[in-house]
Amino acid sequence: MKKSVLQRDSPLRRWDGPLTAELTLRPGDFGLGKVPARLAPDAVTSLVCGFCSVGCSLQAHLQNGHAISLTPDPEYPVNLGLACPKGWEALAPLAAPDRATTPLLRNQKTQRFDPVDWDHALQVFTLKFKALLDQHGPESIAFLSSGQICTEEMALLGALFKFGMGGLHCDSNTRQCMATSHVAYKQSFGFDAPPYTYADLEESDVSIFIGSNLCVAHPILWQRVLRNPNRPEIIVIDPRKTETAMNATQHLAIAPKSDLVLLYGAARALIRRGCVQLQFVDAHTVGFEDFVRFLDPFTREMVCAATGLSCEAFARFVTAIAGGRAVSFWWTMGVNQGHEATRTAQAVINLALMTANIGRPGTGANSITGQCNAMGSRLFSNTTTLLSGRSFANAEHRLEVGNILGIPVERIPTHDSQPYHQIVQRIEEGTIKGLWIIGTNPSHSWIDQNRFNEGLSQLEFLVVQDLYHSTETARQADLILPAAGWGEKEGTFINSERRIGLVKKIARAPGQALADFHIFQLIAHYWGCGPMFAEWSSPPAAFQVLKKLSKDQPCDITGIRDYRMLEESGGIQWPCPGRASVPPDESAPLRYQTNPRECRLFEDGRFYHPDGKARFIFEQPRESPERANAEYPLLLITGRGTAAQWHTLTRSGKSDILRRLQPDGLQVEIHPADAARLRVRPHTRVRGFSRRGSIYATAMVTPTVQQGQVFMPMHYEGTNQLTLSAFDPHSHQPSYKYCAVCIEPS
Ligand code: SF4
Repeated sequence: MKKSVLQRDSPLRRWDGPLTAELTLRPGDFGLGKVPARLAPDAVTSLVCGFCSVGCSLQAHLQNGHAISLTPDPEYPVNLGLACPKGWEALAPLAAPDRATTPLLRNQKTQRFDPVDWDHALQVFTLKFKALLDQHGPESIAFLSSGQICTEEMALLGALFKFGMGGLHCDSNTRQCMATSHVAYKQSFGFDAPPYTYADLEESDVSIFIGSNLCVAHPILWQRVLRNPNRPEIIVIDPRKTETAMNATQHLAIAPKSDLVLLYGAARALIRRGCVQLQFVDAHTVGFEDFVRFLDPFTREMVCAATGLSCEAFARFVTAIAGGRAVSFWWTMGVNQGHEATRTAQAVINLALMTANIGRPGTGANSITGQCNAMGSRLFSNTTTLLSGRSFANAEHRLEVGNILGIPVERIPTHDSQPYHQIVQRIEEGTIKGLWIIGTNPSHSWIDQNRFNEGLSQLEFLVVQDLYHSTETARQADLILPAAGWGEKEGTFINSERRIGLVKKIARAPGQALADFHIFQLIAHYWGCGPMFAEWSSPPAAFQVLKKLSKDQPCDITGIRDYRMLEESGGIQWPCPGRASVPPDESAPLRYQTNPRECRLFEDGRFYHPDGKARFIFEQPRESPERANAEYPLLLITGRGTAAQWHTLTRSGKSDILRRLQPDGLQVEIHPADAARLRVRPHTRVRGFSRRGSIYATAMVTPTVQQGQVFMPMHYEGTNQLTLSAFDPHSHQPSYKYCAVCIEPS
């Protein structure tokens, strides 16, 4: 009789082979349940995720001090035990084979990279940049940095470059995502201050998402929306039927970049319905009467003609705002990356102010940040604003910073740096000759990519400091400095709700790669200005410097003792001034009982302008800088592809698991009617053209885009070969969401 495979002595069944050992589970301890034996940790520690601005905390499972796997922190007040695929896979990019492990210098004869030691690399760095400064002055060198590095690092970089090296022009890739929110808040509230706390996502009865595909871009925040016990009305304003729009109770599929007209029209309609909270407006704002007069032309008919909405859809939207007990407005890149982005963000703020939906649970005009430390960059990068939200043009501010840092005030520039696009223009014009790029990949991500790369090729000296030697930007460098990544260094990030969280070293950087902080310290030493930064001796010491810089600013963090307090508190939201006496939150998990309460701004109705009042700011809508025509009849919208993809895929493309969750290459979403007209069949190769370049992609025929529009995810190099160099005039943020293209079968 044949033996069953289930019988213990069946030759087909092994009970003690290598695979069995692999599958055997044992208690993981540390509250982890059961884990495979080889993954049993000997310790765990928590750190904040290094991808997006949600700022989830991840538990690193350690063996001999090294992380072997990650799980979401079950108690952290942000993610409550959840993580998106990127968080789960955050260790994979660190082990990629294309990590830069030694400085690489381009050999001028062979044009190949030669490995060199740090001493040689830093001598070349210093020699080249000093020569440019001596020959062409302080405006001839620049840096472009990142919202992905720690706050201590970006502050040291900005201070070193401007006060130590004597440079002037520098900016960060946060210009590409958050500059609009920064400027909008600063002008409207008097300081760059996102007012909310994530708990507001669970307390609204009307949640309005403008240009935000929250499901995909901030998946853990979407989970917080789903936890809302009020069964809120969820309204999505987006030309595309995104994953978030599919889950909305109202989807306003407006014409691309008609959001400003829609928001003005809603404000007018609310006024006409008598839904303005006049007591709040009178007590806490300036400019409402002028706003009312300005709104006069934004009639329902005008709004519906501009947006393509039906009168009923528009009325339903206004009714939801009017009837909401706690209405929250959330916006992301669909607003920020537009040609009139700042005024659009302020139109959102105006709606919150006039309906008094601010400073109360479940309310707010809430910009959700992009990168893990974009908020740190906005406050402390010392690029286009002086440290801690101050102004370079303000003599008093310069004196304060000089005194705090113990540096001669003459070392502080008296005017702001040029923003990113002006730096790019100066590179094209040849006035900026040396560029240092840190932790960002603009040869892929900057708008109108071919033009950008043409500019880079004209530089006399390009340094790229990055984890990988293989990025599109690094491949063009003269010198590559190998940097440690998230998880290989310590510091802090500030998330979307202003919560400062801790990043820890849970892995060893490969080869000679160093933390950005230590690279900056070395550069200070080689440059000869090391003593100026003696106080910045380590990231924890630099954090103490940041505390001093924040004192009496709206972002005061002097009440945060040190990293340990951040750890014990589950992160702390700014402001946390030293004089604050914040009672512990007894509803917090035991581990985080020292946690100060959730911190929402403007509960007292006082804003940061000297008179304590917020401003209504508005402006006539502008024409889009490029229109569709017979040659380029389709409008291209760009955005995030999937929750498994992060920006240029530099890191998320390194994980086998994340790659399996991503489409295989660039896809263009096209409406079935357009596809039929253009003879484009589903899943076939198409060619896309704009006035700036051409690309190949795979056609995804879907009604999620409207007729006359196509969508491409931003994660592929080709997308920005098509986009147009257009910028918001106030924030100088690129307008990635609108340009004219044509698509044809390939
Ligand atoms: Fe990390 Fe953002 Fe995903 Fe949270 S939602 S795990 S912070 S990438």
